[in-house]
Amino acid sequence: MATTAPIETLGGFRGHDLPSRDVIRSCVHCGLCLPSCPTYVMTRRERSSPRGRIWLMKEVSEGKLDLLDPLFEEEMYLCLNCRACEAVCPSGVKYGEIVEASRAQIEQARQPAPKVRLLRKLVFHFLFTDMRRFRAASAALRLYQRSPLPRLLERSGLLTRLGLAEAHKLMPTVSARFVVPSGETMPAQGTWRGRVGLFTGCIMSTAYADIHQATIRVLTRNGYEVTLINGQGCCGALHVHAGDPNAGRALARKNIDAFDNPHLDAIIVNAAGCGAALKEYGHLLKDDPAYAERAAAFASRVQDVTEFLAAQGLSAEPGPLPITVTYQEPCHLAHAQRITRQPRHLLKAIPELRLVEMPESSLCCGSAGIYNLMRPEMASALLARKLDNALSTGAGVIVSANPGCMLQLTAGLRARGDSRPVLHLVEVLDRAYAAAEAHARSVGADAQ
Ligand code: SF4
Ligand code: SF4
Repeated sequence: MATTAPIETLGGFRGHDLPSRDVIRSCVHCGLCLPSCPTYVMTRRERSSPRGRIWLMKEVSEGKLDLLDPLFEEEMYLCLNCRACEAVCPSGVKYGEIVEASRAQIEQARQPAPKVRLLRKLVFHFLFTDMRRFRAASAALRLYQRSPLPRLLERSGLLTRLGLAEAHKLMPTVSARFVVPSGETMPAQGTWRGRVGLFTGCIMSTAYADIHQATIRVLTRNGYEVTLINGQGCCGALHVHAGDPNAGRALARKNIDAFDNPHLDAIIVNAAGCGAALKEYGHLLKDDPAYAERAAAFASRVQDVTEFLAAQGLSAEPGPLPITVTYQEPCHLAHAQRITRQPRHLLKAIPELRLVEMPESSLCCGSAGIYNLMRPEMASALLARKLDNALSTGAGVIVSANPGCMLQLTAGLRARGDSRPVLHLVEVLDRAYAAAEAHARSVGADAQ
C-alpha cells in the first residue's frame, strides 16, 4: 500500500517550505535592526519593521493569526527582502529564509486571480525557464524598442490608461548582441592565472549583455580564461522571492548540472541578486537527497566578480579615469553576501578616479526584483531618497553592481531630466583598461 508523507504544520503554517520555528525564535526583539530597515525608516511603523514582521510570523506559527490575514500578507510583501536587517542582527536571525518561506506559504494557501495565474505561468514558467524562448522574447522587445512605437504609445497616453506607464519606463534597453552560453572559451591575456565560468543568467545575457562583454574583457585582461558554460539558465531568484521555491529549485538543478565541471576555479557572477541566489542553492535544495551535497558544493564555488578580482588582485594596471563617482551598494551584495569593501577597493585602484561616499549607500533604492512594479509608492519614495543622497555628492557617475539597481536609478534620473550615467563597476574597470590601452598606443606612436 502506498504511503503518503504526513503533512507538516507549524501553527497556521502547513505543507512544504515551513518557516523555521528556531529561526523565528532566535529574534530577541532588541530592535537594533530597525534603523537599517527601509520600510521602517519610511513609515516609522513597528509592524513594517523586521522585528514587527518576525512577531507576525511568530503569531501565525502559534496559530494566533491567520496565514491569510490581510495584515500578514501586506507586511510579507511590503518587505523588500533587502536583508539589511540580517546584516546588522546581533542574534544572527536568518530573516531572508523566513520571509521567503512565509511568502511560499501564502502562495500555497491562496488562490490567485486567473489573470495573475496566467501572467505567472507565462513569465515565470514559460519565459524564464527556457533561455531560447527568453532570447526570442528579448529580440522581439529589442525590435519594438528600436521602432517608433514606444514614442507613439507614450504620446498617446494609452500606456497610462492601461496602467503600464511605470513598467514601460522601467524596461531595460536590450543590448544589440546577446551573450549566449554556447560552451565558447575566451582565452586569457598575458600570464595565465586560471579558468572561470561566467554565470550568464537571463536578463544579464540579453538586456545587459554589454556588461557581460565588459566582464569578459576585464577577466581575460587579468589572466583568466572565461568559459560560457552550455546549458545554464536563470538563477531562480525571482521565483524564490515571489513565493515559488519549487520553480527556483528546478532552475537551480539545471544550473548545478550545467556547471558540473571540475576544471573551473570559480563561477563568476556580475549581478548581485543572482549571486546571492546561487550562493544559497545549498539551502534551497537541502531536502533533495540527489542534489543537497552538489548544491552546497556549487554554492561554494560562486563568487561575485568584485569579490573575485579584489581577492586575486589586478594583474593588469588600469589606466587613468579622471571622473568623480559615487557607489550605490546593491542590497544583495552588501547585506546578503556582505561584500562592501571589495567594490570600493577596485574603484580606488583606478588612477585619477575620485570616489565620494553618498549618505545611506546601503539603504535599498526600491528596485528589489519586481518590487518597483508591485509596490510603486514605496519604491518611488525610496528611489527619491536614494537619488537625493547620490546627487548630494556632486558625482558625475553613479556606480553599482546589480542590474535592478542600475535600471531603477537610471529611470529615476531620467524622470528628473538628468542624463548622468549609471554604470556597473566592471564597466568602469573596463573603461580604465581601455584608457590604459589608448595610452600605450599613443606612447607607441610617439616612439615611432
Ligand atoms: S531581527 Fe535581530 S536585530 Fe532585529 S529585533 Fe530581532 S534579534 Fe534584534
Ligand atoms: S528585508 Fe529589508 S525591508 Fe524586509 S524587514 Fe529586513 S530590512 Fe526591512
